[in-house]
Amino acid sequence: MVDKEFSFCDNVDRMADKAVDVLGLEKGLASAIKGCNAVLELRFPVEIQGKVEVFKGWRALHSIHRLPSKGGIRYATTVNQDEVKALAALMSYKCAIVDVPFGGSKGGVCIDPSKYTRDEMRMITRRYARELATRGFLSPSTNVPAPDMGTGQREMAWILDTYKHLHPDDINYVACVTGKPVHLGGVRGRVEATGRGVQYVLREFFRHSDDVAAAGLTGGLGGKRVVLQGLGNVGYHAGKFVSEEDGALIVAIIERDGALVNEAGISVEKVKEYLLENGGVKGYPEAAFVEDGSSVLEMECDLLIPAALEGVIHKGNAHRIKARVVAEAANGPTTFAADEILVNNGVTILPDAYVNAGGVVVSYFEWVRNLSHIRFGRMEKRFEESRGRQIIEAIQESTGKVFTGATLGALTKGPDELALVRSGLDDTMRGAYEQIRQMKESKGLKDFSTAAFVIAIEKIARSYQDVGVL
Ligand code: GLU
Repeated sequence: MVDKEFSFCDNVDRMADKAVDVLGLEKGLASAIKGCNAVLELRFPVEIQGKVEVFKGWRALHSIHRLPSKGGIRYATTVNQDEVKALAALMSYKCAIVDVPFGGSKGGVCIDPSKYTRDEMRMITRRYARELATRGFLSPSTNVPAPDMGTGQREMAWILDTYKHLHPDDINYVACVTGKPVHLGGVRGRVEATGRGVQYVLREFFRHSDDVAAAGLTGGLGGKRVVLQGLGNVGYHAGKFVSEEDGALIVAIIERDGALVNEAGISVEKVKEYLLENGGVKGYPEAAFVEDGSSVLEMECDLLIPAALEGVIHKGNAHRIKARVVAEAANGPTTFAADEILVNNGVTILPDAYVNAGGVVVSYFEWVRNLSHIRFGRMEKRFEESRGRQIIEAIQESTGKVFTGATLGALTKGPDELALVRSGLDDTMRGAYEQIRQMKESKGLKDFSTAAFVIAIEKIARSYQDVGVL
């Protein structure tokens, strides 16, 4: 699906090249930043129902300027080395943009998880994890995976347990992977973090009326017509949050088997339920079904949120995209060529390396939580509550006014882990938006994508130069 002229890696490199040109970076340094540091290619056998099956997997290490290197593990039949390398590069840039002190990495296994039982998936995952761990591609200090397409908490728990048995003397073993179930050291809010991050980015965008006007829009997120592609973890949560909490109207949902369209709005929750039950969206009663799902990307709308695969907006359809804003919740949904077409047509692109960084931001919180061996808020929750009560009492005494109900509750509530994670994520996404905006203005750039990449390349270049690795 990626632009035929270029591979996914080429597309990512060309975005980086643009940033290198803006910065006037020396060629050697630029290629050190862009190049993938190491790629592990694996072929590992697993016995499935009495027969040996050989699986192909990878783990790409794009950068090690910060350690550990970080990035998810993807299970899909489309996984290949080029994809894993491109996604690893995006991880490096993503972490730099949102100030998460990690290098970039990514892994994947070429597999259709729906074809295997739970026990088989456990064996395959454990074997893959063992291969990674014994080759130095899995450790809390150097390389920390997380969920990606086709993987989730379940796989992370298996990876954790595999590492723990190989390294029982590593006191930080829990930090070898993020996106774990909470009872195994995961952090609250990680499952929905990427979708929550997309919501925080959109809220921040709509706080800047000049950016909103430049996209040809007015007002806030409420009432905006949204076309959403993909109801996986990221698309589901992003769509659910912006519609249920911000009043955006989901007018179309594109899934594997086709698209649903309803100008009056579609319930993300109901469609997700239907999808889980029926394996597709066809036949969903409260919207019209369109067989050619990708044509719906071209529908008139305010916001297009591609939250599925890479390369879905390419030079073949880019000039027909009518959305005013494309919020790239997926990794690499717009090819380099398509990016240029959209920008020339005045479409605002909020780039993937920033928009979908919420997952790794909360992974960072999880990793820090694991290294500190204590849940966020455990020490201060009750302390903050009693401090709140004391302040309220003092105010009540001096003013004679008595606080009740919701106000009293809000002012005397100590922060729990979920509240702290959300606050940290919101702050990070807002801070990064400001940095990207400032970069765009100071360098006179046309688009957010180039500005975001300039920030990433500049930060990584600085860290290379500071330690003098060249
Ligand atoms: N797979 C996610 C991504 O593409 C999360 C990576 C992580 O948390 O390390 O950003």
